[in-house]
Amino acid sequence: MENKTVYLNGDYLPLNEAKVSVLDRGFLFGDGVYEVIPAYSGKLFHLQDHLLRLENSLAGIRLANPHSREQWQAILQPLLSGVGDEYIYLQITRGTAAKRDHAFPADVPPTVFAMGSPIAPFAGRDTGVKAITLDDKRWALCNIKAITLLGNILHRQAAVDQDAAEALLVKDGIVTEGAASNVFVVIDGVLLTPPKSNQILPGITRDVIVELAAKNGIACHETSFSLTDMQSASEIWVTSSTREIIPVVELDGNAVGDGKPGPVFHAMNAIYQAYKQSLM
Ligand code: PMP
Repeated sequence: MENKTVYLNGDYLPLNEAKVSVLDRGFLFGDGVYEVIPAYSGKLFHLQDHLLRLENSLAGIRLANPHSREQWQAILQPLLSGVGDEYIYLQITRGTAAKRDHAFPADVPPTVFAMGSPIAPFAGRDTGVKAITLDDKRWALCNIKAITLLGNILHRQAAVDQDAAEALLVKDGIVTEGAASNVFVVIDGVLLTPPKSNQILPGITRDVIVELAAKNGIACHETSFSLTDMQSASEIWVTSSTREIIPVVELDGNAVGDGKPGPVFHAMNAIYQAYKQSLM
């Protein structure tokens, strides 16, 4: 196992020496939140947006934020090599209580863990990927970036079992998001993405795309759409921090558009890549 330096509760130490108790509430209950923050050439991408989402996630589970934004940046920066595309994984749990009890423990410090990793290039960006649709069986607080990911995991694995890269989730006929991504569709030449709600994670990549579309004259609306609408789309994309924008070229075995990444994807991907470059 690669023995890189990671951060745990105030210390930088080799990965194989980073240990948490089996009584940690992250381990016992999945009681914690996380962030995934990309960094390009050592520069954390939209750090303030990620830290704002972290603040919202912590507030959503009633866990005090242990650090200021300046402190977070100082903690995370040394975990980057500064070379190429990387990402920080940051996790905060409600700490280690003396006994297992669902209710919050009193006066227990949170467990804070962070590590940096390279982002491997994803070939699916050029070729497009297959996706399946599934009934969204997750809970009603999907806006919180909780480490409790069993629903997402089961949805993603169902996709992988069918040789697909992502599961697109549908709640009461309405498309929510991917198992680990947000979703965009192009219908009648207009880019659509579901509005923010408790049913989706407010993706940072999603927000950047909505902003870049507005700045570059690409019509884009934050609007709900149905599974039937999505089935008629000329383009479908999934977006996330580590994969950026990925075109879906096959949905439930049917070609999306002409079965190749579409023109709006090519335009937006070029804009996104140029934007990334401009921040390095
Ligand atoms: N939705 C879910 C459920 C996710 O897990 C993710 C991140 N993998 C996203 C959306 C995309 O969020 P971001 O663009 O901030 O990575």
